[in-house]
Amino acid sequence: MKILTTFPSAGEFEKAKQVLEKVALPHVIMKPAPGFSLVGLPALVIEEEDRGKLLGGGQGVFITSGWVDFHQPAQSVPNNTPPEFDEDIFGTVAIMVLQPCTADLTKLRATAHFSGDLSPVFPFMNSLMRDAFYNAHSQTFTFMEGHRMIAVYPRRVAVAKTNDIVDTWRVLEMLRVRFNECWKNRANITPSTELRKCPPALEIYYRLPKINCGECGERMCMAFALRLWSGQVALTQCKPVFGGTHGHLKDALVEICGGLGVQKE
Ligand code: SF4
Repeated sequence: MKILTTFPSAGEFEKAKQVLEKVALPHVIMKPAPGFSLVGLPALVIEEEDRGKLLGGGQGVFITSGWVDFHQPAQSVPNNTPPEFDEDIFGTVAIMVLQPCTADLTKLRATAHFSGDLSPVFPFMNSLMRDAFYNAHSQTFTFMEGHRMIAVYPRRVAVAKTNDIVDTWRVLEMLRVRFNECWKNRANITPSTELRKCPPALEIYYRLPKINCGECGERMCMAFALRLWSGQVALTQCKPVFGGTHGHLKDALVEICGGLGVQKE
């Protein structure tokens, strides 16, 4: 079984490369360049059984974003040079966390941080993307791209259910271009703070016990889902799921809430 990791900075990747040279392990380095070079750093693929030799050999210390099972990417990195923007609101990007999705271990979940602040762009993006959900209270901009769930915060994004590392880079590049183009054209866009709350709240509701027990303080699970989506209650207040009779729903709920940018606590 092969495993893959990427790095939170170019410096950590360089340190890992030096260790690899010292221990002479077979490995493959996947590069995001040229098409995704502004959002990704190289990823390292090794045999799972070699991880101990790489990390425990005392040859050097480096930080990774996390290890996941390697799946052959279904798409290639594009050959084009990525567009640049005079006023780049995104800034530099780093994948800080890479892990398998809780509900589907064949898919990836990543958290990437930006050096920029996207909060001024959210109302303009909310006006453009009618299928997205902007929550001004929690400063979260959420949407689905196919089966992927994307929650954008002012300085980070949580992407759930990407197919592989190349797909993750592609999503980050798509976000970088969309947000920068929107910001560039903002003079022609009427900003909107409309909260289109029902569809995400329904996604949460579908995964709740739907027994209307009232233990969370709401009489109906639907009311709890709506308040959860608008950031007024915590997911863990649903006692049947957290410590009660419906614990089997926990992973799916945590997954959807993470993907929608809803905090668990
Ligand atoms: S505690 Fe959970 S199951 Fe009970 S009403 Fe609230 S959301 Fe529904």
